[in-house]
Amino acid sequence: MSADSRSFSRNWSRLNLSLAPIVALIAILCASIFIFAKTYAAQGKRRHSVTPSPRPPDWDKLTQEATDLLSNYIRINTTDPPGDELPAAKMLREKFLADGIPATIWESSPGRAILAARLRGVGRHTKSIILLSHMDVVPANPKEWQVPPFSGTVKNGEIWGRGALDDKGPAVVELMAMLAIKRMGVLLDRDILFLATAGEEVGGAAGAGWVLEHKPDLYSDAGYLLNEGGGILVQKSGKLYTVSVSEKTPLWLRLTATGPAGHAAVPPAETAVTRLIAALDRLDTFRTPIRVINPVRDYFHSLAMLGDAPDQFSDLAVALRKDPAFARNFVAVPGQNAQVRDTITPTVLHGSDKTNAIPSSAYAEVDCRLLPGTDKKEFLATIHKVIADKSIKVDVLLNFPPASSPQKSLLMNAIRIVAQRFDKAPAVPRLLDGFTDSHYFREKGIVAYGFIPLEVTPAEMHEVHGINERIAVKNLKGGIQRMVDLLEIIGGREGQ
Ligand SMILES: [Zn+2]
Repeated sequence: MSADSRSFSRNWSRLNLSLAPIVALIAILCASIFIFAKTYAAQGKRRHSVTPSPRPPDWDKLTQEATDLLSNYIRINTTDPPGDELPAAKMLREKFLADGIPATIWESSPGRAILAARLRGVGRHTKSIILLSHMDVVPANPKEWQVPPFSGTVKNGEIWGRGALDDKGPAVVELMAMLAIKRMGVLLDRDILFLATAGEEVGGAAGAGWVLEHKPDLYSDAGYLLNEGGGILVQKSGKLYTVSVSEKTPLWLRLTATGPAGHAAVPPAETAVTRLIAALDRLDTFRTPIRVINPVRDYFHSLAMLGDAPDQFSDLAVALRKDPAFARNFVAVPGQNAQVRDTITPTVLHGSDKTNAIPSSAYAEVDCRLLPGTDKKEFLATIHKVIADKSIKVDVLLNFPPASSPQKSLLMNAIRIVAQRFDKAPAVPRLLDGFTDSHYFREKGIVAYGFIPLEVTPAEMHEVHGINERIAVKNLKGGIQRMVDLLEIIGGREGQ
């Protein structure tokens, strides 16, 4: 050891002595920063931890509870009309209250109920997320079903009954996910608002429409919404998460024709009935133009990427324009045709009540569905032109402004994370050809997506509003697990 190094050693020792308190302080600071960073990262990653730390749920027990709940829910007949959702709303309220989640019921008219339940989060400045569903169901004819449609029968691992898929099953997924989060002791940084409405199947005026008009405080802090309209499409080639960001707009019309009344034994050249039939015939042969909007282009592109579809799907707009044979086959499939054009569908017909009497008026109702971007006024002008009979009156029965949600958002990111995590599947925005209550909320600027993480095969889609509607218990369980994960992501910081 050299003299220089010895003296350096001594100096270093002295320095050490004098620096000792500072070094200790730095060490404490570093440790604190490390602990803080670790805690922050953990919170940021999944959730705000509270003491005691989150307890994972007993999924089997929770699934049994969800099965019983759905079975009971189906047993409450909420066929619309008349709906009579109040008993269903009361049952759901009890379920929330039993777990200490405040829930309120309003009646928009006697027997027509709306239920809201709010699971509070800790964020003061974050926007809440609405989990929307409707309590009413479409009619079911017991003669056509394998089991009574309002029995809630559980057999062979499936829960049967009207509403199992539309929309009581999805409501149970939403509700049980909220209970699971509460029971796990997870505090999210935004509120979750469960909202079950009346009258969706007949346009939503008694439910979502009423809430929007009469309870603005309820949704004024809402930024996001999940509703029916999309899910996990299961195909041979794999799974696809479909998220409806937009819907076609209904334009329901009544065409009224008039003419001389009289005895059918001496008919004039033209009557109200013959004029009406001629007008409907002209509408029937009329073809609206083909138009591919962005979510439709993206959706079919995703199907092509999955490898379960014709190559032309990868660029649908070009293929429809340049490949006439493909275009013919494409629009021959009603579900595809409705994605790329406005549709005009006569449904109601009314003329005389007596075979031998010519009525002075006859009417038809026509269900038109417009793509986003179609101008209502221009469309109506086209209808008049095609009918080409000024004596026929055209009245609008139902219409509302078109509204879409952005394809990119925090909520879409969260859905994409869940899709990857659970199924290694893509999530893709799409256009819904029907309409749901989502449009009410989109009009208020809320990012509303049709997406409930339940699996559905193309065959099962026919059970919605059809016969033998049912859901697998396993599917219900997977739906709740994915919904819990999705809410944890959107309610934490992950994916932002
Ligand atoms: Zn529905």
